[in-house]
Amino acid sequence: MKAKQPTSVITGAAGFLGSHLTDLLLARGHQVVGLDNFVTGSVDNISHLGGNPNFKFIQQDVTEFIFLDCPVDYVWHFASPASPIDYLKIPIQTMKVGSLGTHKALGLAKNKNARFLVASTSEIYGDPLIHPQTEDYWGNVSTIGPRGCYDEAKRFAEALTMAYHREHKVDTRIVRIFNTYGPRMRLNDGRVVPAFISQALKNRPVTVFGEGKQTRSFCYVSDLIEGIYRLMMSDYDLPVNIGNPTEMTMLQFADVIIRATGSRSKIVHKPLPQDDPKQRKPDITKAKKILKWEPRVPLAEGMAKTIAYFKKKV
Ligand code: UDP
Repeated sequence: MKAKQPTSVITGAAGFLGSHLTDLLLARGHQVVGLDNFVTGSVDNISHLGGNPNFKFIQQDVTEFIFLDCPVDYVWHFASPASPIDYLKIPIQTMKVGSLGTHKALGLAKNKNARFLVASTSEIYGDPLIHPQTEDYWGNVSTIGPRGCYDEAKRFAEALTMAYHREHKVDTRIVRIFNTYGPRMRLNDGRVVPAFISQALKNRPVTVFGEGKQTRSFCYVSDLIEGIYRLMMSDYDLPVNIGNPTEMTMLQFADVIIRATGSRSKIVHKPLPQDDPKQRKPDITKAKKILKWEPRVPLAEGMAKTIAYFKKKV
């Protein structure tokens, strides 16, 4: 007998990560219902799914009540601005989707008896005082700083997820996503990967903030989505870091991009934004052990694919 086709609901389905997750779930036989209000998502990210009988799209703000009349097996809550520039521009919407939106998505999961996964973030560690970051670190976040709207919304989202887990016995998962890159990032979203690539492709100055000694560790999107899929399908209900531990300074990263694009760009320094985390690198011991997952795509390969995508956009 054929197994029943699972149904997944993805909030933020037209976003960078939401759309890649949609593609993976469709490829693995799910019916997908995607929700997005296009505040930071784009119809271009899902236009290839037009006419796919297994994909249904609903344009909706997920801070409003989510009504669906079909059975649901999995709820993946990915709706949120994710770039520091975006959440500086729309701090209240960022806080609403992390709080009210998570509440609605959890309510849907409870109502449908579905498993729920929230897309949390390395930002919950703030400007971390331990390095690399392990899941048992509680973080160093300024509640009132410019990043507070995002960091605290995501911390609230984790807390609400655990409250639903404990009180309503909802089967929940929490993934803490570290810096991720790949096709479908918005060219002008302000994050370092699209910023450096578009500057380099136009032979314009590459803007390194501060001295460029701050570090990040970049994970290619296909690796990240595979890790998240494995977490959802696992029986582990505490937070798991998913990211690539290959760490570099932003100055090194600027150099990587200039070389990879064959650009004539020079590096210029701009002021370091307030509360910019000084270092970030995931400890992925848990993901390796519990999910048998680790990233596979080397930076050079992932960047080549990402640069090819941006070449068509600039
Ligand atoms: N950054 C930079 N130049 C830019 C954009 C970002 O040097 O044009 C730096 C930023 O200060 C931060 C790092 O790159 O240290 C990553 O920034 P991003 O906005 O991608 O996300 P974050 O990891 O800070 O959330």
